[in-house]
Amino acid sequence: MKWWGWGDEQIAFTHEDKPSLRPFMLRHLQVDIAQSQSTPIAFEASAVPEPRVDAALRARVEAIAPVSVDPMDRVVHARGKSLRDLVRTRGGDLGRVPDLVVRPGSEAELSALLGAALDADAVVIPFGAGSNISGSLEAPVDEARTVISVDMGRLDRVLSIDPVARLAEIQAGAAGPRIEEQLNAAGWTLGHFPDSFTHSTLGGWIATRSSGMQSDKYGDIAELTRGLRVVAPSGTLVVRPLPSTSTGPSVREMILGSEGRLGLISTATVQVHRLPAQRVILGYLFPTWAEGLAAMRDIAASEARPSVTRVSDAEETAFSFATRKHQTAVDKLQSKALTTFLERRKGYDVSAMCLAFIGYEGSERHVRAQRRLVGRITGRHGGICIGTGPGALYDQKKFDTPYIRDFLLDRGMLADVSETAAPWSRLADVYAAATGAARDTFRSLGVPGYVMCHLSHSYHSGACLYFTFAMTPSGRRAPLDEYAAVKSAIQQSFVDSGATLSHHHAVGTEHAEWLEQDISAPGVAMLRALFDGIDPGENLNPGKIA
Ligand SMILES: Cc1cc2nc3c(=O)[nH]c(=O)nc-3n(C[C@H](O)[C@H](O)[C@H](O)COP(=O)(O)OP(=O)(O)OC[C@H]3O[C@@H](n4cnc5c(N)ncnc54)[C@H](O)[C@@H]3O)c2cc1C
Repeated sequence: MKWWGWGDEQIAFTHEDKPSLRPFMLRHLQVDIAQSQSTPIAFEASAVPEPRVDAALRARVEAIAPVSVDPMDRVVHARGKSLRDLVRTRGGDLGRVPDLVVRPGSEAELSALLGAALDADAVVIPFGAGSNISGSLEAPVDEARTVISVDMGRLDRVLSIDPVARLAEIQAGAAGPRIEEQLNAAGWTLGHFPDSFTHSTLGGWIATRSSGMQSDKYGDIAELTRGLRVVAPSGTLVVRPLPSTSTGPSVREMILGSEGRLGLISTATVQVHRLPAQRVILGYLFPTWAEGLAAMRDIAASEARPSVTRVSDAEETAFSFATRKHQTAVDKLQSKALTTFLERRKGYDVSAMCLAFIGYEGSERHVRAQRRLVGRITGRHGGICIGTGPGALYDQKKFDTPYIRDFLLDRGMLADVSETAAPWSRLADVYAAATGAARDTFRSLGVPGYVMCHLSHSYHSGACLYFTFAMTPSGRRAPLDEYAAVKSAIQQSFVDSGATLSHHHAVGTEHAEWLEQDISAPGVAMLRALFDGIDPGENLNPGKIA
């Protein structure tokens, strides 16, 4: 992982093969993306503080597991990848860098490490792959105690698969590709594919209540996770992998979303599925956002069970078209013919149309039947299917899209996301409130800005709305202050309109301000009592959630 940005050093987003992107960005963000304006400072120029650790603790930890005090290693482990994290790190503001990075290789080593840290009153921060975007990893800037980042990366094995119960026990430090590679070899899949799949881990997913793009079929990580082993201050907590249980308030649910505040998740037993015989993602167009939303709601209420349901608003659709690669003469003819067909025969206003992806998985017969069921519903909402091409492209490129944020930062723009969930009956209002809040704030700051949204992750009673916004700072104030004004306005609009502060990005420090409005003051008091009871010395990832 880059210390200053997302993903692999060798991969970068480029506009050069996307001819429509430059005019699009010029029009909406008033930036010529052909010119790069800013680069991260050289690593050597950033002042990494010396580790603060006494010799006795260091020697005890070194006797348990490999320890690193390498400056780059410590900086990579200092924070996640939120926009605020990237802007500060790129500018040389490194925050409270951990003193030690430790890499345990077994549950016994995790226990010994936690014991040593607690005896020395040190801070322990579990580190999956550092991809969170909610400020879930950073130690408080004034933390005077030794800070130990526990890198879970060596714990990356699938330990066992129970083919009868369709459960697999997996070590928590395994990243997405390692999990799928081991499960696929035995004919299974976990089916959890967040956009950060390549650089995030099972333990991180559980500790942040993550959701993957195929959650409509497989469930969010909260549903996939049945059993847990957690190294906690009072010993190893064991949640047995039961399909359901009536044992009082759910301890399993307490660990889900706990962001390292209750202990170190060592392994999880998760639901797995046989690899599907067929997997198809089809593209659809809808005449308006309202029709797209209604179609997704009707699909959720029907007998259809697609693996992916996702519809973009007109702004995100326009952005998707602007990132299309060079088109051949035949492509151009086809898209002209499609536009003419949509306008003349279907009565579309193409500037309002919305692009959707719906995925199907299973046997050929199942996929065929599902497509028919969904086709009837989309048809009722003026939708037309545009085939497998756009869906296949989306599927191929989805793990590359995250690189665009660094590309925009290099050109002086700020881009981020805010996502939420709400009941179907409130989604249109939540959408209007959030996009309105973003645009009002762009206007009051006097900055060019763009906000766009898609619906994904459908449930019985509602769905997730995922907003992406980009802005060009005015230069009159600190860029992060202008960014914070937009981000806060969107987050506030969520809780004001009956939606949650986050559907799958967790609370961390970024969203903690809205927790009480979301879960009520007694709800926050209950969480605080839990954290205080389990970790009275505030040694476990202090300052997160509540
Ligand atoms: C470009 C991009 C795209 C993203 N797309 C998605 C998406 O599609 N869906 C989604 O849900 N999220 C997404 N995220 C957010 C992020 O990937 C998730 O929050 C992810 O679950 C974090 O996993 P991680 O292993 O990187 O955890 P980290 O960032 O390392 O840690 C996150 C939190 O979990 C705790 N933790 C980690 N491992 C353990 C453990 N073993 N035991 C106890 N606590 C632990 C940490 O202490 C921290 O509080 C995205 C982020 C980026 C930057």
